[in-house]
Amino acid sequence: PNLATPSHAPTAKKKGAEGVGLFRTEFLFLDRQDAPTIDEQTEAYATVLKTFDEGAKVVFRTLDAGADKPLAFADLGAEENPALGRRGLRLSQVRTDLIDAQLEALAKAAEQTGRDPYVMAPMVATKAEAEWFSSRAHAAGIKTVGIMVEVPSTALRSSQVLESVDFASIGTNDLTQYAMAADRLQGELAELLTPWQPAVIQLVKATCDGAGDRLIGVCGEAAGDPLLALVLVGFVVRSLSMAAGKITAVKAALSRHSLEQCRRIADAALAACSPEEARTAALKLADPSVEVLVS
Ligand code: PEP
Ligand code: MG
Repeated sequence: PNLATPSHAPTAKKKGAEGVGLFRTEFLFLDRQDAPTIDEQTEAYATVLKTFDEGAKVVFRTLDAGADKPLAFADLGAEENPALGRRGLRLSQVRTDLIDAQLEALAKAAEQTGRDPYVMAPMVATKAEAEWFSSRAHAAGIKTVGIMVEVPSTALRSSQVLESVDFASIGTNDLTQYAMAADRLQGELAELLTPWQPAVIQLVKATCDGAGDRLIGVCGEAAGDPLLALVLVGFVVRSLSMAAGKITAVKAALSRHSLEQCRRIADAALAACSPEEARTAALKLADPSVEVLVS
């Protein structure tokens, strides 16, 4: 699932989660005036790691502050367009104290629990940024390092950008926002902001096509749509992370389709000219039971 606090981890596990596809670390610290200490962070991360079985994939995203997730202690000042400003990894590159403390806490949590956390950076736009994060995380003792794919430049160039990392997770919320030039916080733009937009589907495919053997997951809202989940799996997305309440429906849809069927559904969605057409085309090829799951 997607989680923002360790206390939600046991419930997610009960609802069928096999690991955590996105732990949004910034939400632990939303109301704070000061940066959290390394000990506080270590405890929170260790709690999440211990909730899941040994060998489970538990993915922590480093601080994604800025724009829709403002943090008082990580504010670089007012910006005209915060969604296009110094947010996510860009902020970490300026406030290296914050990212280094976080990486140290994650490494300590790994040591304490004997688990291997997956650690990824948000808002990576270039190969150089991925390399910067990867070497910093490895230097801190993190073994499994990844990035989020939520900027179209990274999706289009995934074979180059992913070279220095072990895995990637596609964030369809921001990927859609940036591909469609539509502010994700503007409800009036919902039609542009659906991940069924053919351009978004094409960017997901481009990411997967360039990823080689690396594990690619999806952790945006798209992963929680049972029909769209079939499309994602068709492009060989290997893990899906969603709100815990959506796990049952997505698992039910996946269990009724082979990879080959998912591939055909994905191709049909990709060939469509609009979100409605993509959805209709996918639904036509899916098992009839999916209609109930998505209605
Ligand atoms: C995303 O952008 O899709 C994502 C999962 O991250 P967030 O919604 O936290 O920006
Ligand atoms: Mg995002």
